[in-house]
Amino acid sequence: MVSVQRMESTMSERSGSSLGAQPDHEVVIIGAGVAGLYQIKRLVDMGVGAVVLERDPDLGGTWYRNRYPGSRFDSESYTYGYSWSQELLDEWHWTERFSPQPETLRYLNFVAEKFDLRQHIRFNAAVESMTFDDDEAIWRVKLSDGGEELTTRFVVTAIGVLSVPTYPQIEGMDSFHGPSFHPFDWPTEPVDLAGKRVAVIGTGATAIQLIPEVAKEAEHLTVFQRRPNWAAPLNNGLISTEEMADIRSRYDQIFERCSQTAAGFEHDSDRRGFWKVPREERLEFWDSLYDGPGFGIWLQNFLEIFLDAEANAEFSEYIADRIRQRVDDPVLAEKLIPRDHGFGIQRVPLETHYFEAYNRDNVTLVDALETPIERITPTGIQTADAEYEFDLIVYATGFDAFTGAFDQMDIVGSGGAKLADKWADGPKTYLGLLVNEFPNFVMLAGPQIAATNFPRAIEPAVDWATDLLAEMWEKGHRSFDADADAEQQWHDDVAATYDLVLAGKAQSWITGYNSNLEGHEYGKTRYNIYQGGAPRYMARIRDVANDGYQGVHFT
Ligand code: NAP
Repeated sequence: MVSVQRMESTMSERSGSSLGAQPDHEVVIIGAGVAGLYQIKRLVDMGVGAVVLERDPDLGGTWYRNRYPGSRFDSESYTYGYSWSQELLDEWHWTERFSPQPETLRYLNFVAEKFDLRQHIRFNAAVESMTFDDDEAIWRVKLSDGGEELTTRFVVTAIGVLSVPTYPQIEGMDSFHGPSFHPFDWPTEPVDLAGKRVAVIGTGATAIQLIPEVAKEAEHLTVFQRRPNWAAPLNNGLISTEEMADIRSRYDQIFERCSQTAAGFEHDSDRRGFWKVPREERLEFWDSLYDGPGFGIWLQNFLEIFLDAEANAEFSEYIADRIRQRVDDPVLAEKLIPRDHGFGIQRVPLETHYFEAYNRDNVTLVDALETPIERITPTGIQTADAEYEFDLIVYATGFDAFTGAFDQMDIVGSGGAKLADKWADGPKTYLGLLVNEFPNFVMLAGPQIAATNFPRAIEPAVDWATDLLAEMWEKGHRSFDADADAEQQWHDDVAATYDLVLAGKAQSWITGYNSNLEGHEYGKTRYNIYQGGAPRYMARIRDVANDGYQGVHFT
């Protein structure tokens, strides 16, 4: 354990010494979402001069921005919350098993108030560029709109993995007379949908949450679907005071369990062997999972679902039947069943009455593969065979995942290396935490971390980053950087995990696919996320730290 006093003296002695000039801040954290809030808490507790720069006018990150109707967790609320404060665990009552966005945002505000974190956050402070000054061993961080420059020794990014929405590039988008936006840009003021003709383009997880809610309010909803997605019921419910008391008494067990499972949830794969369990039993098992909450249907299923195409096909057919049972029109039901990939190969959207929404008279599905969207007109959408009139268009068309938020800032490392160039064909990192040639720079929830219930990976990442910084202060190092060899090895390790699972070939943001971004065509795989399981990943980053930061060089 590093002594705070020793660190403070190392930090203050630095001025004018060989360690470089005194910067404005010791640490700049970018982003005031789940990761940034915990990171600032850790640093404030250590007495470190740190500031959080947040581009939005308030805190919350993902949960500040995604305020579209239906936005909520697909993680059990009590597995998503922070685990690091007993008081917080004792005080906070999650009211729903899968917390809706407003409650999650209230939770993050509660955390910020409770630990007095707001004073360390600068809002409306978007970073335009940052450059590492090799002579001074500091980062020069420039803000947009006014261009104020800050200097800092260390930069910690907490900018999210899905925080840059991608709008489609359809002719005429600017000409539309009504409002139009991506769900990530949903207005902060309530949007009155009553009496409105609404279009939703896209049928990913976001649209699947949004569509049933819009259908309830709008006069008419038209959904433009290219590829359907597999989806299964969320089976949300309220959490009573008694249940919450029980959860509180089991928090240690819950977090322990999450740390042992591949995806950081309480759910874990069934290892009985798909082919060893008779089909009748498999069907009964699936019925119980389908009626159960959350990702059970995916993550508690037979392990073979993720690995064995034949097993996956049989299970996918089971889900297809469930969709057929829920959609009245058999032709429409077939349109909602994916044909190009199996269940769970792409991250599974969890839904509440999604399929039933298509039974309503005020909902229409347009097959945008059969009759593609040709242009947006001043009054609506023109497809290959019809013109539709709308009052509002929602582009639920995905994100520039993992690297998009980094690309938005011009990040220049040692010797003029540009991060955007380095990652042009996909990210390359050491452990998803460091990048060679980008000294004194740590990513929380960066590309190539483990695929998991994110807060369960974010907390260890914050702890790892904090320990690394403490090591710097304790030892009086000037800078750290990942070794190129170690980075290449980690990249290859991540790539190898893509060969192990069916998801390695998914046409989704996991492999970098995004039809609205050049260079993100399907087949040009970007190794965005480690798929070898969270426990293996956590053990690896722990071992690296315990072995004196193997693969990291200090000056
Ligand atoms: P997404 O899964 O990438 O889906 C984007 C959708 O837009 C796809 O259906 C895509 O069709 C369609 N699309 C894109 N460009 C189009 C165009 N030009 N014309 C017509 N359709 C177009 O994005 P997302 O729904 O925002 O979900 C992304 C991820 O966010 C999820 O996988 C999940 O991890 C996360 N998420 C989580 C939650 C939660 O935790 N509760 C909720 C929402 C989202 P194609 O497939 O044909 O390209």
